[in-house]
Amino acid sequence: MSEEKMVSLNTIDDQLIKKAADEGIETMWDRKKAMKAPCGFGEKGVCCRICGMGPCRVSPVAGKGAQKGICGATADTIVARNFARMVAAGTASHSDHARDIAHVLHMASRDGNYQVQDEKKLIALAQEWEVPTEGRDIYDVAHEVAEIALNEFGKPFGTLRFPDRAPAPRRKIWEELNIMPRAIDREIATIMHSTHMGCTSDAESLLRLSMRTSLANGWGGSMLGTELSDIVFGTSTPRMTEANLGVLEEKQVNILLHGHDPCLSEMIVAAAQDPEMIKLTEEVGAEGINLAGMCCTGNEVTMRHGVKIAGTFYQQELAVLTGAIEAVIVDVQCIFPSLAPITDCYHTKFITTSPKAKITGATHIEFNEEKALESAKVIVREAIENYKNRKQDKVFIPQSKAQAITGYSNEAVIKQLDRVVNSNIDPQGTVKPLADVIKAGVLRGAAGIVGCNNIKTKHEYSHIEIMKKLIANDVIVVTTGCAAQAAAKAGLLSKDAIKLAGKGLQAVCELVDIPPVIHLGSCVDNTRIIRLVSAVSEHLGVDNSDLPVVGVAPEWMSEKAVAIGTYVVSSGIDVFLGITPPVTGSPEFVDLLTNKIEDMTGAKFFIDENPLTLADKILERIEEKRTKLEARLAKEIDYGVIKPEEEVEETKELA
Ligand code: SF4
Ligand code: SF4
Repeated sequence: MSEEKMVSLNTIDDQLIKKAADEGIETMWDRKKAMKAPCGFGEKGVCCRICGMGPCRVSPVAGKGAQKGICGATADTIVARNFARMVAAGTASHSDHARDIAHVLHMASRDGNYQVQDEKKLIALAQEWEVPTEGRDIYDVAHEVAEIALNEFGKPFGTLRFPDRAPAPRRKIWEELNIMPRAIDREIATIMHSTHMGCTSDAESLLRLSMRTSLANGWGGSMLGTELSDIVFGTSTPRMTEANLGVLEEKQVNILLHGHDPCLSEMIVAAAQDPEMIKLTEEVGAEGINLAGMCCTGNEVTMRHGVKIAGTFYQQELAVLTGAIEAVIVDVQCIFPSLAPITDCYHTKFITTSPKAKITGATHIEFNEEKALESAKVIVREAIENYKNRKQDKVFIPQSKAQAITGYSNEAVIKQLDRVVNSNIDPQGTVKPLADVIKAGVLRGAAGIVGCNNIKTKHEYSHIEIMKKLIANDVIVVTTGCAAQAAAKAGLLSKDAIKLAGKGLQAVCELVDIPPVIHLGSCVDNTRIIRLVSAVSEHLGVDNSDLPVVGVAPEWMSEKAVAIGTYVVSSGIDVFLGITPPVTGSPEFVDLLTNKIEDMTGAKFFIDENPLTLADKILERIEEKRTKLEARLAKEIDYGVIKPEEEVEETKELA
């Protein structure tokens, strides 16, 4: 890959990369260069080091070189096993994140730091789980719901609760495939067991295990993360914000919130508004405290509070290079350990807060959820007091930022849809308007564009090119994770972007009053997308795999993304990957992912590293699904399989 292709086109980034070079500071681009060509065995997924007889690396070319590991494992087994372990790690990350939120719900109290912010959502979940609510104190209900949630991780019998929310045909498929997820931790443990030396050595079986574990993520851990976060921290509503490194303020204490866990960041937001902290800010001569988010912690706080978005995953080092950040406060996941040496070059404090993510060279101030606000104030105080150490000659804040609207929870999306419901004819609070425009072809389809940045590709170029192409072709885009932040920076989350949409999408955006690209939150919030899709499927009386809907991860990099992609395909939605996963050493496994899995789930993976041709393939697949859906709906209505629209049972409430 050429050097030019590896560097972002964004001039802000280029300026900061140059600043790093001038100041002799190493960044990810330098490390990539030092790495030279990646190991071909690792790239193709054919190396194994899961036992002491290895490491083994087998030839990805049939009939040439070592064809088997010492134990006899073939390339197919090794690739499928490595893939399964990626799914397990991704599922563990999302699920452990959710577990912390369940604990916080369990400790919530009327006069505590954590409270129930969305009682309606709590009651709805309690009723779904048959927890008595009538005449009970809301906190007693909350604690019982939290306990049930915590049991979802390790209950000894039965299957998870949230898969009951999926459309009936989808649940049937999971049952027939025997991939209905049981307990969340159990699925992760089973993968680790089955991929131990001398266990499962069959690629298709390993894929099925991966599917079941990924479902324990999407319809388990991640869905719990989203639901419980909304209950404790509030269900978001649309709000304006700004995005890109230009959100940093010259005369304020800049705090970068990075990671994933809202249990910490919510308290930092509260602490930053505390009178004691504001007084201290004045004492150090700053004009205020400026919070700026990055990665999914950034998404969580921008969704709920409109906190500005500093940037995406790949900008974490660049943010420090501005020299204007007093503290980078992190919790868990996607945090470069290189932030320790980079922050050492400036006055910036790099503060780790979780025992799950300690980093050598960082200042560790453990966040104590029992005394959450006090604990957050200790951390914020460190940042404020550090303002006086800022070296003005090292400061460079790029003057660029874009307006964005964030905060579209599913509840907020449905509220927007209610704008076009004639309440004399149709009930409010359903996805019917969305189903109607998809069915009619005003919207050709919908795409969830999600995931990370990856140094293997030009940063954000793939996200933005694909989004632009899809909206121009009347495909509505919902987005989460760093893809959402890329969209924010490119101005695609603003209503100005409506002009980039095709005529059909333009009309919908104007009537419903939304941008053509809608920010649905963080990576765990991809579960909002699968719930929206499932609601539309149920409304139309079809399965998810019948809809012209796709998932896209143009620049994915993390194991979480692999788990997400797998649960999305397992949920019946095609997934388009812009980065090739490490599976190409096994033609059999590639065939399973990109072909045979469709026979099992009705959806499959597409892989293409060229974002422009990937976008074409997405549009082609959407039209293919449309044709089948239109024919099916026409036929079923003719034969009376589907009742006339007014008699169709209303979609379940999403909340
Ligand atoms: S499990 Fe088999 S392939 Fe893997 S390291 Fe051990 S001997 Fe080698
Ligand atoms: S999108 Fe990827 S890089 Fe960004 S926060 Fe999520 S997992 Fe991390």
